[in-house]
Amino acid sequence: MTVQYKMNLPVKYDVDVFVAGGGPAGVAAAVSAAQCGASVFLAESFGSFGGAAAGALVPAFMQFTDGVRFLAGGVGRRVRDYIRANCPESSKKYCPDSIPIETLKLCYDEMVLRSGARFEFFSHVSGAMVEDRRLRYAVCTAKGETYAVKARLFIDCTGDGDLAFLAGAGYEQGDENGDTMAATLCALWNGIDWSRVVKPDSRCLDRAFADGVFANEDRHLPGIWPISTSTGGSNAGHVYGVDGTRADSLTRGMVEGRRQLQEYRRYYKKYLSGYEAAEPVISAARIGIRETRRITGDYVLNIDDFLSRAVFEDEIGRYAYPIDIHSGKNTAEGYAEYERKFACLRYEKGESYGIPYRSLLVKGFDNLLTAGRCISADRSMQASVRVMPCCFITGEAAGIAAALAAASDADTRHVDVPRLQEKLLRLGSALSTRRTPSVPADYQEDHR
Ligand SMILES: Cc1cc2nc3c(=O)[nH]c(=O)nc-3n(C[C@H](O)[C@H](O)[C@H](O)COP(=O)(O)OP(=O)(O)OC[C@H]3O[C@@H](n4cnc5c(N)ncnc54)[C@H](O)[C@@H]3O)c2cc1C
Repeated sequence: MTVQYKMNLPVKYDVDVFVAGGGPAGVAAAVSAAQCGASVFLAESFGSFGGAAAGALVPAFMQFTDGVRFLAGGVGRRVRDYIRANCPESSKKYCPDSIPIETLKLCYDEMVLRSGARFEFFSHVSGAMVEDRRLRYAVCTAKGETYAVKARLFIDCTGDGDLAFLAGAGYEQGDENGDTMAATLCALWNGIDWSRVVKPDSRCLDRAFADGVFANEDRHLPGIWPISTSTGGSNAGHVYGVDGTRADSLTRGMVEGRRQLQEYRRYYKKYLSGYEAAEPVISAARIGIRETRRITGDYVLNIDDFLSRAVFEDEIGRYAYPIDIHSGKNTAEGYAEYERKFACLRYEKGESYGIPYRSLLVKGFDNLLTAGRCISADRSMQASVRVMPCCFITGEAAGIAAALAAASDADTRHVDVPRLQEKLLRLGSALSTRRTPSVPADYQEDHR
């Protein structure tokens, strides 16, 4: 059964640039667009900035560098430096790679407020109005009202590609069967004695499996990251078959994640030293989703680009994290495949791949960009670009590109790319240097 529901919406904001979502990509996009002089409005459905780190308690940043050069200049570097300078004394030893979450939230609040970008939390983008290849309005369902936002340029930083999807953009999700990487309900723990924690031996898991601690035997256990002298953030357990774009599926994921957390509680306390007094004090408000829509752009960043350490004329950044595809199924083969790829599809120090501006341009739209986890990439590359430092990189570029387009009344395909690159370089981004590929030949064959 369906029912028709029509409403007149107030246009609450009329801006140059609308940013959907306030994770690392959205914050970088909003701040950089505002700093370039654009009027900006950002709608975030959660109660803080920070995306998966704040809402899903993802405990650590992956690499900001290629081992030689800093890759996430601009907002990424400012966030890293802020955390290093302002995190609590008890966290100093561990941050900024591990995330002291309140420090991160404050950092984002201050940064966005200072940029002059306007924003509202508890504002969920739920609709899009399109005319002639242009997105005209985004619809936000907020606490107490539903409103429209008019903008010249729109940037989808929702992680899930919600805005582009609502506008009718093409996308892919998961592997050839639609299976996506497993989800994880992260949690914050206290009572850990880090001085006694040692690298876990796989035999500990074997013993726990034999003792029936876990309902399902999952060998892939990223672990608990130290956050302060006695606290840690867990990235433990996989919930399989969760579709992060559907509330019913996410609901099942939350319930299963909380159930699994109690198994990991028993495991850490009984089988690993240093965790005897440890307790998970809070699980995340939302389950951590690694993979949903990859919005189809003018260019699909692909595994050949990783293997060749690609350089692009319209490059807007470079990144270096390995191909990290958590299995979508809890099978021995799935885990072996993950391990094989994670071990081989990685770089030597100083190597990186380029990201072209075209992978942010949404196919079929003249004023819509993506940044962050949902950019145009194949499944393998999504498993690299999805991590937070790279989301700063694509967010920063999308924000500046949108501001340049707004200032010259251009569409996204007529942005002056050399000017964009010049601005990015001035902010400390790393652009184009070609390196010799060093991935084994069989891998190049396997993963083309
Ligand atoms: C379990 C797990 C472990 C991870 N581990 C690491 C790690 O160790 N290091 C690392 O660097 N990365 C890690 N990642 C990846 C990383 O956290 C995310 O991929 C990254 O945060 C994506 O950034 P983003 O800005 O694209 O999206 P997100 O961080 O997801 O932010 C998107 C924001 O948009 C908001 N939003 C979504 N839909 C809407 C809507 N319709 N309207 C309004 N707002 C909306 C969300 O509330 C959210 O705040 C991990 C991810 C997971 C799930």
